[in-house]
Amino acid sequence: TEAISQPDRPAPLPGEGEATGDPRDLFSKFDPLIKQRSDLLDSGLEDPFNLVMEQVLSPVTAVCNGRETILLGTYNYMGMTFDPDVIAAGKQALSDFGSGTTGSRVLNGTYVGHKGCEAALREFYGMDHAMVFSTGYQANLGIISTIAGKGDYIVLDIDSHASIWDGCAMGNAEVVPFKHNDIDAMEKRLRRIPEGAGKLVVLEGVYSMLGDIAPLREMVAVAKKHGAMVLVDEAHSMGFIGPNGRGVAEDQGVLDEVDFVIGTFSKSVGTVGGFCVSNHPKFEIMRLVCRPYVFTASLPPSVVSTAATSIRKLMDAGNKRQHLWDNSRRLHAGLKKLGFQLGTDEPQSAIIAVIMPDLERGAGMWEALLKEGLYVNLARPPATPANMTLLRCSLCAEHSEEQVGQILTMFETAGKKTGII
Ligand code: PMP
Repeated sequence: TEAISQPDRPAPLPGEGEATGDPRDLFSKFDPLIKQRSDLLDSGLEDPFNLVMEQVLSPVTAVCNGRETILLGTYNYMGMTFDPDVIAAGKQALSDFGSGTTGSRVLNGTYVGHKGCEAALREFYGMDHAMVFSTGYQANLGIISTIAGKGDYIVLDIDSHASIWDGCAMGNAEVVPFKHNDIDAMEKRLRRIPEGAGKLVVLEGVYSMLGDIAPLREMVAVAKKHGAMVLVDEAHSMGFIGPNGRGVAEDQGVLDEVDFVIGTFSKSVGTVGGFCVSNHPKFEIMRLVCRPYVFTASLPPSVVSTAATSIRKLMDAGNKRQHLWDNSRRLHAGLKKLGFQLGTDEPQSAIIAVIMPDLERGAGMWEALLKEGLYVNLARPPATPANMTLLRCSLCAEHSEEQVGQILTMFETAGKKTGII
């Protein structure tokens, strides 16, 4: 087979392994990264990885580094963080149940709010089972490592999120990556897995670096043809993509074939937490065997109440979804017209990635935008595919059409100033 030994993270840090300092100092392996970072800051740039939100005025505006700024780099896709019902639910739970549970879900950490939140998820997805984790990272870590162990095979897209890679490593399964979004490459890997072995295909609905979506209809069919179970991480599509906001699998009509959907509360839901929903008849046993679920404290009551309220409101958010699609198309078309190189030919999600020539110029453009009053995400290797430096724009349903116009003007000014366009 083409199975490879599992990497302990998706890619090495830049220059890792070329330590220059004292080899007995366990930190000497980070020397190249420390140098790269200090070189960048010595050039006088504001630190792109140390921005502080001093005041948050709305889902789309904040005061950061002393300036009022339009936020175009959050995952607050549906703008739920300031929804009055969501805030009221959180305040009520905080006063009724206290600030935290101080315990695991399987001991003293299951409150009615956790049950209510899981009920909201079951309803949202129309699935039989829902399990809430403390983060989306832990949901991937826990579900993947628990269901795919020694002797099993995980076939996954090479551009998968770090939490997926870490879940693979933790479970000791054979890990077989394939080229990003390549259906034939995926099938080739599946064909080579020994007869009778357990198989899990892991995919994402939206890949967050370039904002492109997976061809789930074809991929799920291929996975099923080869007897594999399918897990889809819908972190960046929940609430927005699909007629009911259930994600790319819903949009492409294959949600019923997906065995496990992983999601997060830290994006469209607007708080923190993670989950897995499934129709597998034995799914509930996960609560006893999944270590990142058992051996950690459950979410605070205020968090699960805000999440449940937000999830229920997202079931009926068709107008917001439409507005977000309109904004996404508007921003994509405008940036393209200005001459920026974008991650996708057409907008496929609420993420529009602007490709920068290199880290130095990318950081320069990031800072120029911040000075104009716009915050975007600067993304760089190893988080990005193909060593790309990206300015990732993620839209929110609360951005007005007028703000998208302002954003484009800011891109034009900063792009000309830095010579990117
Ligand atoms: N999966 C994907 C695809 C993600 O992008 C992220 C977070 N960026 C996660 C999982 C983890 O989510 P959380 O923030 O809830 O840990």
